[in-house]
Amino acid sequence: MPKFDFDLITIGAGSGGVRASRLSAGYGGRVALIEESRVGGTCVFRGCVPKKLLVYGAHFAEHIEDAAGFGWTVGDVSHDWGALVAAKDTELDRLEKVYHRMLHDAGVSMVDGHGVLTDSNTVEVDGKSMTAERILIGVGGWPFIPEIPGREHVITSNEALDLKELPKRILIVGGGYIALEFAGIFNALGSHVDVVIRAGSVLRGFDDDVRNAVAEALEKKGIHIHRECVVRSIEKTDNGFSVMVDRGEEMLVDQVMYATGRAPNTKNIGLEEAGVNLGKKGEVIVDEWNRSSVENIFAVGDVTDRVNLTPVAINEGRVFAETFFNDNPLTLDYENIASAVFTQPAVGSVGLTEEQAREKHNVRVYLSRFKHMKHTLSGRDERILMKLIVDKETDRVLGCHMVGDDGPEIIQGLAVALKCGATKAQFDATVGIHPTAAEEFVTMRDAVPVSVSR
Ligand code: NDP
Repeated sequence: MPKFDFDLITIGAGSGGVRASRLSAGYGGRVALIEESRVGGTCVFRGCVPKKLLVYGAHFAEHIEDAAGFGWTVGDVSHDWGALVAAKDTELDRLEKVYHRMLHDAGVSMVDGHGVLTDSNTVEVDGKSMTAERILIGVGGWPFIPEIPGREHVITSNEALDLKELPKRILIVGGGYIALEFAGIFNALGSHVDVVIRAGSVLRGFDDDVRNAVAEALEKKGIHIHRECVVRSIEKTDNGFSVMVDRGEEMLVDQVMYATGRAPNTKNIGLEEAGVNLGKKGEVIVDEWNRSSVENIFAVGDVTDRVNLTPVAINEGRVFAETFFNDNPLTLDYENIASAVFTQPAVGSVGLTEEQAREKHNVRVYLSRFKHMKHTLSGRDERILMKLIVDKETDRVLGCHMVGDDGPEIIQGLAVALKCGATKAQFDATVGIHPTAAEEFVTMRDAVPVSVSR
């Protein structure tokens, strides 16, 4: 008779929890997976997937405009927001079924409800207790909205994905991934978009040239970025919202969306009671093995607030399962994790920013700004930015950054090169594919002088 009901209980069926549970069960573990909402988590229902589907939908606005330069007569076109949201929902339903089937086939026991730890081996769901040798927390995060008068009126990305109508005017607070991606979607589909940022520039953490290029491109498309600006209050009016910002201006809009970061979902699941140490934001503090301060309680994904990206959560789930259910101890290497912002144009980035690189290395910087071949005929006034940061002593490429359509697709390939420690000489020895934008990454010959002001 086994000591526990299960070998593993996972709380949270998002990207990390699903991967860990499925693999662990595949390796013979007896696994229960508890989820109170839909199986798939933030990525599938409130993040990456629905957002990207809306981004695809938004792209057609420019594709249609650009077609004229290639001889197409398009005529009057219109967009049906409701149809896009409905099509997106159909796809999410399909994905949810795929997740259920995958987990079922792997032998994972699904438990529907809210799991609360009652001790380090026991989880209670709707009054029913179950025990396991190991517990894995994968409950993700939730949008954080600062305390401001009228905060009850605002939406977050959760609601923005399901709006009944496209807002004529939307004010988005924040200048990070989510704010800018949604600004791009709404702007392309016809909304008047104001973005309010407290800092002087968008996308903190990205390379400065990237940040400037993105802001410039978004503004050129008609998105209004209000820099060093703070929202003071939001009031409901008869036909929308009145937003007061700290310069004394009043902005009248149909929706106010906050994209001011996300906080770990660690309340009300018994973590502190079970002795799990939490950090300042409420994140579960874990070691390289994803182990919390309690020996048999682990956590993966956004709830640990390390690198909050779906593929990172998936890989944390993978190394957890390999280590504890396949006798193959693995930790995740967090260096050179590529990321993307699906703005229009998009950002793809891997490795160090110029600023980060200069802190520890002598660097050469290669920078190219050019017009995409497509836009020679479309006439669109948009430029691609590509940037390489190279260590002067070792010739290793430390960072690759791109702003431009297909940036995320291109950078994914270069991330492999960086993982392999590629040098600039190896980039130069790589024969390009012509004609592509990507070939510029292997044909940048002259470093920009240090004194150049960009
Ligand atoms: P980010 O951390 O990217 O951006 C938060 C933004 O909100 C920043 O501009 C920040 O300003 C601002 N902000 C924070 N607090 C306040 C405040 N009190 N008042 C006003 N502004 C504030 O968070 P997001 O919500 O955009 O995204 C959350 C996470 O989700 C990301 O970090 C990313 O890991 C992940 N994500 C990844 C995506 C992708 O891979 N494509 C897409 C979407 C999300 P400041 O710069 O001044 O700090």
